Amino acid sequence: MTNPSKIDIRSLRLEELTARLAEWGEPAYRARQVYEWLWNKGATQISDMTNLSLALRNRLEEHFEIRNVKVQHSQFSKDGTIKNALTLHDGLVVESVMIPTPTRITACVSSQVGCSLGCTFCATARMKRMRNLNPDEIYDQVVAIQKQAQETLGRPLTNIVFMGMGEPLLNYRNTMEAIEKITSPQGLGLSPRRITVSTAGVAKMIRQMADEKVRFKLALSLHSAIDSKRSRLMPINETNTLADLEAALDYWYQQTRSRVTLEYVVWEGVNDGEEDVRALVRFARKFPSKVNLIEYNSVGEDSLRQAHPSAIAAYTEALEAAGITCSFRRSRGRDIDAACGQLANKGEAVVQKTS
Ligand code: SAH
Repeated sequence: MTNPSKIDIRSLRLEELTARLAEWGEPAYRARQVYEWLWNKGATQISDMTNLSLALRNRLEEHFEIRNVKVQHSQFSKDGTIKNALTLHDGLVVESVMIPTPTRITACVSSQVGCSLGCTFCATARMKRMRNLNPDEIYDQVVAIQKQAQETLGRPLTNIVFMGMGEPLLNYRNTMEAIEKITSPQGLGLSPRRITVSTAGVAKMIRQMADEKVRFKLALSLHSAIDSKRSRLMPINETNTLADLEAALDYWYQQTRSRVTLEYVVWEGVNDGEEDVRALVRFARKFPSKVNLIEYNSVGEDSLRQAHPSAIAAYTEALEAAGITCSFRRSRGRDIDAACGQLANKGEAVVQKTS
């Protein structure tokens, strides 16, 4: 647990840290050393910072602490996927997933504890939103999986997807700051092209990212290109309609020249008809995109069922005929509820906040 009289050292920017240490008469390069320990070497305690004098380490410890996320528990799928339950400094729990393939290792990270969007098919929606994650809490998920990748497979982490719990664009600043720490040379130095932010569709923030000329990739969870159906599946569509999203994604492409991925699950009797296929082709053609058909992972006690393979084939054929790249993503880690939409802290008792 945290000590409320101490400051979370990772909440300070480099300039703030530099100013703080300057008050103690320390030169600017000291602050850079501390920063490197925090964001490049992933130090978990101030005493790890062995190139600082003992006096400075003690002084830092009097005022600051590192609020590391702790891996409380990991579950191992027979397909190699690992799901982690992580405890935050206030006792809340989030999940992250390591997904290995022969050529890459992907970290699937959470951006919020729970989620406010209420998508009918997603288990996280049942938890409601408890709070946003701080940049360091997102960063720690990546570092934990980086270690796991080396320890279990002897290979480095190659990709990051923001497809865990929560809506990253409703925790915008913290998500951007975490990505900055993950990609900057003073941080982990991972290429932004290997990071994908997935959104349920917050048009205003898609435009904001485009204006900031971010260099990571963007995925939109679409699931239907017909407004009335999409609103039933994803209530956020009532305020961020397909027309809003189309305009925002077009703007995104103009600014970034980066092709958007459209994520799409086909459900029996919901979006497996010809008009659904036509609507998706029309939508996907409006700006450069590719479609990722995702296998549905049941979240229990609901009426949604994965569509028949022939319905999926109808989508693939129509998309290919229209010249739109399309892939079908097999589910990973289902046996441990680690697949898309299955993250709901089931393995763990969530410590409920009282205030
Ligand atoms: N809030 C973000 C990221 C979290 S969800 C978003 O909506 O994109 C990550 C992906 O999993 C999204 O594409 C989402 O639509 C998909 N997903 C959610 N529940 C699912 C389920 N039960 N089966 C398959 N995919 C699911």
